[in-house]
Amino acid sequence: MEQISKLKELLHTPKRIAIIAHQKPDGDAIGSSLGLYHYLVQLGHRVKVIMPTDYAENLKELPGTSDIAIGTEDIDSAKWEFESSDLIFCLDFNAIHRVNEFGKPIMESPAVKILIDHHLEPEDFADLTFLDSTASSTAEMVFRIIQAMGDDDKINADMAAGLYAGVMTDTGSFRFSSTTPAVHRMVARLLETGINVTKIHEDIYDNYTENRLRFLGHCFSHCLKVLPEYKTAYMVVDRPIFKKYYIKAGDTEGLVNYALSLKNINFGVLITSNDEMVKLSFRSRGSFAANEFAKHFNGGGHFYAAGGKSKESLEEVEKKFLTLLEQYKDQLNFA
Ligand code: 5GP
Ligand code: MN
Repeated sequence: MEQISKLKELLHTPKRIAIIAHQKPDGDAIGSSLGLYHYLVQLGHRVKVIMPTDYAENLKELPGTSDIAIGTEDIDSAKWEFESSDLIFCLDFNAIHRVNEFGKPIMESPAVKILIDHHLEPEDFADLTFLDSTASSTAEMVFRIIQAMGDDDKINADMAAGLYAGVMTDTGSFRFSSTTPAVHRMVARLLETGINVTKIHEDIYDNYTENRLRFLGHCFSHCLKVLPEYKTAYMVVDRPIFKKYYIKAGDTEGLVNYALSLKNINFGVLITSNDEMVKLSFRSRGSFAANEFAKHFNGGGHFYAAGGKSKESLEEVEKKFLTLLEQYKDQLNFA
């Protein structure tokens, strides 16, 4: 593969490398970055992982997280790091606005930019691009790249923990349709390093605060609306509720999936509001394309998981959403 030989060439001599993933990094953004980080360090490079914003506490048990810098905590050193790097790896995003204010220093940096991502509709901003929208996760892509580099024997437990967390979270614990035989073969290889998968699952899924659980309870009792005529369930969650339960970054992760966990529901939606805008999360099943629907809210994403945003008020967004449901009624009504 031509890209792999180019990457080999770039990594042939020791380099200063920065790794960045998208803002509000999720399990795959953090996990794939850490997997790549431990690999590149092993190859003898000087590597710095910088996330544009902070991320959920439950990801902070993964090996290497203590070495991750948060861009917003020291903007100047983060910018300097990008400006002075030889290589910048961009992971789990493909539109430069996803790294907020760090887009500019990255684009202006003389560094060679390497993009590794599995989202649709990529922007063409990198010098070397690894894209596969059919891949389960960026973690899977990093794993494949390491193998294609001929470095399967270098996969150790630290790398494996990050990659496992990435593929686990992006496949909904190995249940989404992206969970191919290749994903399970990868996981088998990762397990050979001796990682403790029970601990990784518990750290990520059984590590929430009491407030977060009560917040979920509040959302289910007071915010959830079920519309059988559209086979849709949705929740509207406004700012005061987040404040009441001291909700932090990552605490709403997975909330939208509960809407889709209902019997006879094909479309699950979460509409939230922060101080700047309204954010929508869409999850679908079967033949209903969440990413098509998301286009009505300046968004996009995957077929079954998409998102969007709006500058209108929460009430206006909900009204628009309900009008759209009526338009999509036939498409939503399948068994
Ligand atoms: P979530 O609902 O977890 O925030 O987002 C699910 C997926 O939808 C993300 O992985 C991303 O691909 C996509 N997505 C979320 N928000 C946006 C958005 O505002 N614009 C676009 N184009 N995609 C989004
Ligand atoms: Mn991902």
